[in-house]
Amino acid sequence: DTIGRNLDRAIASFPERDALVDVAAGTRWTYAEFGDAVARLARGFLGSGVAKGDRVGIWAVNCAEWVLVQYATARIGAIMVNINPAYRAHELEFVLNQSGVSVLVASQSHKSSDYRALVDEVRPRCPQLRGVHYIGDGSWDDLLAAAETVGTDELRAREDELSCDDAVNIQYTSGTTGFPKGATLSHHNILNNGYWVGRTVGYSEQDRVCLPVPFYHCFGMVMGNLAATSHGACIVIPAPSFDPVATLHAVERERCTSLYGVPTMFIAELNLADFATYDLSSLRTGIMAGSPCPVEVMKRVVAEMHMAEVSICYGMTETSPVSTQTRRDDDLERRTGTVGRVLPHIEVKVVDPATGVTLPRGASGELCTRGYSVMLGYWDEPERTAEVIDAGRWMHTGDLAVMREDGYVQIVGRIKDMIIKGGENVYPREIEEFLYGHPKIADVQVVGVPDERYGEVPLACVILREPGGTLTLEELRAFCEGKLAHFKIPAALRVLESFPMTVSGKVRKIELRERFSE
Ligand code: ATP
Ligand code: MG
Repeated sequence: DTIGRNLDRAIASFPERDALVDVAAGTRWTYAEFGDAVARLARGFLGSGVAKGDRVGIWAVNCAEWVLVQYATARIGAIMVNINPAYRAHELEFVLNQSGVSVLVASQSHKSSDYRALVDEVRPRCPQLRGVHYIGDGSWDDLLAAAETVGTDELRAREDELSCDDAVNIQYTSGTTGFPKGATLSHHNILNNGYWVGRTVGYSEQDRVCLPVPFYHCFGMVMGNLAATSHGACIVIPAPSFDPVATLHAVERERCTSLYGVPTMFIAELNLADFATYDLSSLRTGIMAGSPCPVEVMKRVVAEMHMAEVSICYGMTETSPVSTQTRRDDDLERRTGTVGRVLPHIEVKVVDPATGVTLPRGASGELCTRGYSVMLGYWDEPERTAEVIDAGRWMHTGDLAVMREDGYVQIVGRIKDMIIKGGENVYPREIEEFLYGHPKIADVQVVGVPDERYGEVPLACVILREPGGTLTLEELRAFCEGKLAHFKIPAALRVLESFPMTVSGKVRKIELRERFSE
C-alpha cells in the first residue's frame, strides 16, 4: 500500500491515541491531530507547486516537523531526499545536485551548525533549487499558508494517482567504502520493511517508541517512524540529537516500551553516573543495529534496562534496510552472536563471490538478498545499480556471512575489507576482536596493504589507551604468537590518534588502506 493510505488506517483505528511526542519542543499529537498536520503540510507542498516525482530535501535534526515532511511528501507522491545534518557545504551541494532537489526544508541551526549560512553558500551552485523553508520561521509559515489555496479534494485526487511501487525516498549510503550512492526506495520497499520490523518486535497501539537515533537514516525513519505508525504505536522524540540524559528522561516520563540505539548510545546511557535513578520499568524491547554489539553491553541492556526482548537487525540502505532480525524469544547467544534470521517475504543466500554458486550452511561467502525490500536502484546511476542487483533481482550486499544450521546469520566482515595473503583469506574482524584483548590497545582497525611477496598483508592501525604511549610491532606480534594463525599476525603496525570516520560514525578503512599502502 502507499504510506498515506497506511497512515489513514491508523488514524481511523486509533484517532485518540498518541501518534507523536516531541519532548524538547513540547509537541504532543494524537493520530487525528497528526493526520491533520500531515494533510495540511501536504496541501502546502501542492500549493507551492510540488509535482509528483519532484525531489524534496529534508536537512534537519530530529523534530516533529521532520516526521510531518516524511508523511506529507509521501501523501503527494514527492520523493523525499534525506540529508545528513552533519554534512558540510560540499556534501550538501553534492546531494542537492545529484538528486535534483527543487524544494528544501531545513533546520535553522543546531549546536555549532548554522544551516542557513551553509544553504546560502551552496545555493548559487544549485540552479534547480527553487524554494527553501526553515522550520519555525516565516518561510515555514509560508509553506503552511500555501495550503489555503488547495482543497482536500485536490489532495485526495493526487493520492489516488499514486502506486505503492512509486519512488518515495532517496537515502544516501554511508560512504564507508567509497562515494555515497542514492538508494531510491518505493512505498512498498520501506513501508513493508517498517511494518515487518515492528511486527517482529511485537508493536501494537500500546507501544511508545523512544527514538534517539537520527531520522535522516533508515534506522530512525523506517525502523522507527514507519514501524510505529504502521502498528498505531507512538513516536517519542527525546531530543534533536543524541543526548543520553534526555533519552532516559523521555523513557521515564513518557513510559516508553521500546528504545533504539547504536551500541555506543546504550553504552553512554548505562555509564551515566545517575543511571540507577531512572525508572525504566516501562521498557520491554528495543532495537540495536548499525554495528556489532559487545556481549557485555547486551547483557547489561537486557538486565539493567528491562529490555529482555531487545532485537538486533542487519541490513543496508539499499534493502529498505532490514533483511535479518533476532526474534522476541531468542536466547542471549543468538541475540549477541548472530544478526538473527531472515524476515518474512525476503530470501537470503550465501554465495561464493568468485563463482556465484550457492554455498552450504556453515560456509562463509557473500550474502545476497531478494524480495520486496530490494531498492528500485541507485538514483540516476544505472551502471552502479547493475553492479549490485543481478538479473535475478538478487542484491549482492558486499558483506561476508555464514548461515548457521539453525538459519541464523553471522556477519563476518565486508568483502572489500577481506585480505588475501598468499592465497589465504584473512578476515580483519577476527584479528581486531583478538587485538582488543591487548592491554595497551583502546581501538584497532586491520586493513590489507600491498606486499611484493604475499600480494597483501595485514596492517594493524591502533589507538593506544595511554595518550603518548608506545607499542612496537615486536610486542604486538609476540602477543599474537601461538594464538593466531601465522598468516593472520599483523605484518605492520601504525599507532594513530584517531581513525578517519564517515559522518554516520563508521571507520573508513579505504582511507587507512590508501594512506599506508606505501
Ligand atoms: P557505502 O555503501 O556507501 O560504502 P555503508 O555500506 O556503510 O556505506 P549503510 O547502508 O549505512 O552504508 O550500511 C550498511 C552496511 O552496514 C552493511 O552492508 C554492513 O556492512 C553493515 N552492517 C549493518 N548492520 C550490521 C550489523 N548488525 N552487524 C554488522 N554489520 C552491519
Ligand atoms: Mg554499502
